[in-house]
Amino acid sequence: MKLTVLGNWGACPQAGEATAGLLLCVEDRVFLIDCGSGVLAQSGKFCSVGDFEAVFLSHYHHDHCADIGCLQYGSKFAFIYGLRREPLLIYGHDQSPRFEDLTYGSFAFGYAVGPDTTVERDGLRVSFAQTAHEQYNLAMRFEYGNESLVYTGDMGPRSDIVDFCAGADLLVCECCFLESEADDSLGHMSTRDVGTLAQKAGVRRVMLTHFPHGAEGAIWENDPKRTRELRERMAGEVRRYYDGPVLISKIGESYQLTVES
Ligand SMILES: [Zn+2]
Repeated sequence: MKLTVLGNWGACPQAGEATAGLLLCVEDRVFLIDCGSGVLAQSGKFCSVGDFEAVFLSHYHHDHCADIGCLQYGSKFAFIYGLRREPLLIYGHDQSPRFEDLTYGSFAFGYAVGPDTTVERDGLRVSFAQTAHEQYNLAMRFEYGNESLVYTGDMGPRSDIVDFCAGADLLVCECCFLESEADDSLGHMSTRDVGTLAQKAGVRRVMLTHFPHGAEGAIWENDPKRTRELRERMAGEVRRYYDGPVLISKIGESYQLTVES
């Protein structure tokens, strides 16, 4: 499997970028994981809108699904112009009325998933776990051959997913707060929480995503230098609690799931 980061902002994208979105390539098949604001504009750099075999949504906050409506339109014209033959499958939980919006004519079909569900698609196995967040959210585990990827979607430190993440080749974990801002009651993770989870679960690598627009009471926009410095500081804090590699997700960069041992 190969993972490409399409978006890594929480809440809203900054100039030319995107909120939550990951492109997962399994051999020559293309899957989308979350579909936030700006994600389709990023995905167009790597594939056609007609290429997606299926989409997996963690939850229905806008920064994770804002582009779904446009993806449905894209699926429609891809269908009409012969760029795809099958309707787009959109997997998401049905614990919200928003689930009904996933189906769009005969071009896109919503398919309910949850902690008791496993999706099997030609060797790709996807399982789900609920996390603690303001809204019902599903973390996802993707397995293909010997490779494994876990993506958290959104969650706070009270989420009980250590076993779900155990031994993953890569844990893509949301990280919204510095250690100084850590609070167990929050619906998002601090650097301390991410490092603790990664260490307990024994994952081979962790990648930080869903970044904040500022920290410790300060906020800034479209300042790449301060953004980079904050993310490097966050990664450094995660390393206090986790002794494996800590990656900072970068929009447009791709990562192989296989780790040379
Ligand atoms: Zn959320």
